[in-house]
Amino acid sequence: MTVVKNSSYENTDTFESILESIGKNGFLTIDSIERLSKMFSMQSMSKVKEIMSEIIKVVFIPSNRTIWMKLGTDKDYIIYPHSYCSCMDFFIHGILKNRKYYCKHLIAQGIIEQLSVSNPKDIEMTEQDENFKEKVIQRLELEHFLN
Ligand SMILES: [Zn+2]
Repeated sequence: MTVVKNSSYENTDTFESILESIGKNGFLTIDSIERLSKMFSMQSMSKVKEIMSEIIKVVFIPSNRTIWMKLGTDKDYIIYPHSYCSCMDFFIHGILKNRKYYCKHLIAQGIIEQLSVSNPKDIEMTEQDENFKEKVIQRLELEHFLN
């Protein structure tokens, strides 16, 4: 008798391995979009796509420390890549349930990090900058104006 292994594609696929293949290509392929949609549903992926333009990476000079944020019209969230987001969805499904969880902000950040096109929303700040949020928003508005 032969044992047939259940080689279900979806069951063995992980977000990390999808990110790895996005990183190898440097851009989103149809294959990676399909795998992401299977993992997180088509509906979440369309939200993720919207959020991607609101994710920024702030680099502090001179230490080169970075933080990732999602800047929204209503609320801003802080994202620690692959582990934490300050949104309510992550709080409920990740922290309260004490399990590995990817909210749409963590998914969007993970994808952006793998894209080879330098992120146009990277913002450099000096460590001494006060009024952090105001400066980030000013910088974003300026970028928008220049583009
Ligand atoms: Zn989140």
